[in-house]
This record gives sequence, structure tokens and C-alpha cells, in this order.
Amino acid sequence: DLGRVGDELELPVYAIGGFARDLLLGGKNDDIDISVEGDGILFAETFANRHGCRIKSHAKFGTAVIVFPDKAKIDVASTRLEYYETPGALPTVERSSLKMDLYRRDFTVNTLAVRLNPQNFGLLIDYFGACRDLKDKTIRVLHNLSFVEDPTRVFRAVRFEQRLNFQIARHTENLIRNAVKMGFLDKLGGRRLLNELIIILREREPVRAILRMESLGLLRFIHPDLVLDSENIRILDEVKKVVTWFELLYQQDNVETWVVYFLALTSLVSDDSFWETCTRLSVSEHYRERLIDMRVHGEQVLKVMEQKAARENTVRRSDIFFWLRSLSLEVLLYIMAKTRREDVRKFISLYVTQLRGVSCSVTGDDLKSMGLPPGPRYREVLDVVLKARLNGEVSTHADELLLAR
Ligand code: ATP
Repeated sequence: DLGRVGDELELPVYAIGGFARDLLLGGKNDDIDISVEGDGILFAETFANRHGCRIKSHAKFGTAVIVFPDKAKIDVASTRLEYYETPGALPTVERSSLKMDLYRRDFTVNTLAVRLNPQNFGLLIDYFGACRDLKDKTIRVLHNLSFVEDPTRVFRAVRFEQRLNFQIARHTENLIRNAVKMGFLDKLGGRRLLNELIIILREREPVRAILRMESLGLLRFIHPDLVLDSENIRILDEVKKVVTWFELLYQQDNVETWVVYFLALTSLVSDDSFWETCTRLSVSEHYRERLIDMRVHGEQVLKVMEQKAARENTVRRSDIFFWLRSLSLEVLLYIMAKTRREDVRKFISLYVTQLRGVSCSVTGDDLKSMGLPPGPRYREVLDVVLKARLNGEVSTHADELLLAR
């Protein structure tokens, strides 16, 4: 219906960017980017009214996001911008063509447009050799100043190369190396760098992308101490295995995999350098505290577990539970990848798969009815019961009550 609404308003409408790219590659892409030759906001409003969607528009940029009731989104951009500098003034109109719009994009493979108006539905527009580069599996910038214009594209190049299993073109790679040498990446804002890094670490193969960033000398823009050695690579490879294992088991559990990879990537730098890395990446103060706490707390628990496992033959299930219960899933997966001890890895896996779901059936209300005055004793008593349950010493509610008493 996007094309039909375009026809009604006499506006040419195209699907562009990643959607068109993935369509040709035969992959799936739920993010539809639309470019309208004309007033994209009017187009978005008309479409949204008809389909019961909401829209969020930015008049100044001529862009709008159509939001469906199920939260699916379509991004709409105009190749012609029309805006009012001051109220009541004549509109400033900037005309540009679809071709100009596509020329501003990062790589040739993202410059395809597919016409959606019914009459020419499916017409493929390829101004910059996108089809050739898709066929040759090549990531190529459109012009020599691309990385100077926007250094985040350096990271985007690595992301697309690794995700699509393509190769950055030789000239484009030289431009990246040049941008690194000339210090263009120093100017990159922390927030934008963080965004790109998070997207890379959320990809399916972040380790390959990290190795590629290392080979292009990009990691030092995140922090000068960030150099990969074999131990670091081992931990990252283990994270990949652990995350895959976890996702297969618990498809519904929401783990921020980028955090696990981020902790692993920075695992061997000092606490001070970790702090500086977060500052460089403009991580918000609140989140920075959280990340530091994850790292420090995770390391402490890991050390305790490793020492105990080295000293003792048997470790009780309750010990495992109480060591690990305050750690988030991200930290659990991180220390599971980091440890070199197979027994400790098994403890963490036992906790993730079985123990973390265990609770006792006795509650605070039960303790109250027994006449125990509310206070910190509650926690202690409940933990004693929980410990017995974890170790299989009690199994029924009646036994638990008896123990609590
Ligand atoms: P994904 O599948 O990860 O969403 P995508 O190609 O849709 O990939 P986005 O980051 O969502 O990538 O960007 C949408 C489009 O906007 C891209 O296809 C690209 O052409 C363009 N784009 C995004 N960021 C930049 C940039 N920094 N410079 C130039 N063009 C960009």
C-alpha cells in the first residue's frame, strides 16, 4: 500500500538502503527505509491515517517514523525538504534528487532503491554500482572523503564486511588506514562511537569484527590499552561459545550480549583504563557505575570460586547459589567464559540451568505467623531454609516450616 499512497499523492516512493540490499541478497530485513521524492511527512501522515499507525515527524529534516500498533516501524525520508526558518516566514525549500540522497550514503551496497509505486513496482535503481559490489561481495565507499565526512563509517565498514561476509575494497581499506593515520577518528564523539560498538557487539560474529578492528588499528580509539593478546582472544572465543549455549537453551531470556562481549574485550585492562574507556565512550554515569560494579564483583566472585575449587573436592550446591545469586546473567556468562577451570565453568552452568530458579516455599508471612518479629532475622532464617532445600536436606513445605521453627 506504500506505493498506492504514493500514487494518490503523486509522489514517487522507493524502498532504499539496507532493506533493498537485503532483498537482493535474499536475506530478511524488517527495517523498511522509504525515500519519497517530495513531501515525505505528508506521505507518512496519509499512510498512517489509513493504517491506524502513529507517526513521529521531524519537519526540519523532512523525516518521519511510522509506528504500527504492533510497534513495527517504517522510516520515511524526503528527498525534498521544505521547512520554515521562523514562524510566518516563507518556507525554505531544498530540492535534491533521489540520486543526491543516495550519494550521501556510506557504501555502494546501501545505495539501491526499489520503486514501490504500482506502475513501476520493483524497478531497481542502481546509480553507484551497488549490484556489481553485491555480486563481488565488496564494501566500497562512494568517494574519497567519505571517512573524513563521517568517521563512524570506518566501524560500519567492518560491521557490514563481517556480517555479510564481504571484503572491504582495497582502496576503501587504504582510506580507512589513512583516516586512522591522520587522526580523523580522534574527533569521533564518544556517544557515536559507543553506538557503533554496541551494534557490532550485538552482531552474530562480534569476535571476527573485533579482530578486524584490531588489524585496522581501530581498537586504540576506544582505549590505547586495548590490545588483543592470545588470552584476550581466548576469552572472546569462549564468550561466543557460552552465549550461543545460553541462547539455545533460553530463547526468551533477555541477555544484553554486547555487555558480555564488552566485559570480555576490556577484561585485561586495569580498572583505571576501564573507567577511562567508559568515559571515552560517553557511557552515562549511572551505566558506567553499573558496568564497573559488574566487572569488579564478577572478578571477586570468580576468584573465590576458583580458590575454593582448587582447595576442596566437593562444593555444595548452596555455596554455588550464594556465590552467584547477586550476579546478573551478563556477568555470569562473562565469568563462565573467563575461567580456565572446567569445574568452575560447570558450577556456573549448574547455577544458570538449575539453581537460579530454586526458592523455598516458606515465606515472611509464615515466619510472622510463627511469632517472629519482622527484621533482619527473616532473611537469615529464609536463607537457612533455602540452603537446606538447595542441598536436598528438606523437600516439603512441612519440613521447611519445621526447620524455620
Ligand atoms: P541494519 O540491517 O543493521 O539495520 P542498515 O543498512 O539498515 O543495516 P542502518 O544503520 O539502519 O543500516 O542505516 C540505514 C541506512 O542509512 C544505511 O543503509 C545507510 O545507507 C544509511 N546510513 C546510516 N548511517 C550512515 C552514515 N553514518 N553515513 C552514511 N549513510 C548512513
